[in-house]
Parts: sequence; structure tokens; C-alpha cells
Amino acid sequence: MKIALIAHDKKKNDIIELAKRYKDVLADHTLYATGTTGTLIMGETGLPIHRMKSGPLGGDQQIGAMLANGELNLIIFLRDPLTAQPHEPDVSALLRLCDVQSIPLATNVSSAIIMLEAIKNKIYFK
Ligand code: PGA
Repeated sequence: MKIALIAHDKKKNDIIELAKRYKDVLADHTLYATGTTGTLIMGETGLPIHRMKSGPLGGDQQIGAMLANGELNLIIFLRDPLTAQPHEPDVSALLRLCDVQSIPLATNVSSAIIMLEAIKNKIYFK
């Protein structure tokens, strides 16, 4: 599967912990990420990741374009619901496209764990 990983700044530690915990699962898939998220996960896990631009500089839109082209199968986007984001329109557009394409989208750690467990146990696959 093609999986995209994104985390707002206050959720970066959470996505790193998630990537470490599910490193073996993620290693079987093609990974994409926004710039900073991807750099951090690669540094902490060694997983290969195709990195887009940083989210506020257009990375969310690049992931959105991949979604629109049917090039992604699952998104983990750990959002910070308590901090205003300068690129909120890009974030909303990306989330909307997930619903347009019926692509699984986890916006918090608990949902992400359920999705990664489903992949690990081969309950969800593409
Ligand atoms: P970043 O972007 O991984 O480059 O920090 C994430 C975002 O804020 O959308």
C-alpha cells in the first residue's frame, strides 16, 4: 500500500513513537510524508520515505494531489486541534479529498493504531 504520514508540530513525537512501534508493518509499504515529518521519522526509524515539501509550504497540497490521482491508499495525519495552522485551508482540502476518494484517514493516535493493527493483521489491504 501507499501510506502518507503527516503530523503537526505538537504531534511530531506521537508520530515518531507510532512509526517506531509499527516499524515492521510500515516497512512493507511505500511511505510518503510531508517534509519535516518525513525527515524526523527517517532519522528515528531508518524507514525510507518519499518526502514532499513541508506542510505549510505546500506539502499537504502535494499529498492532496496524490490523493486526487488515486495514488495513496491510507493517510495518517496527526493534527493539532488546539493550535491555529497558517495552512488550515490546505489541511481541510486534504481531509476532504480523503472522503471524496473514500481513503482511510486517521487524525489521532488511537485511530492510527486501529488502522495499523488492521494492516498488520491483514484485515485491511489494497
Ligand atoms: P511538516 O508538515 O511535516 O513539514 O511539519 C506537516 C504539516 O504541518 O502539515
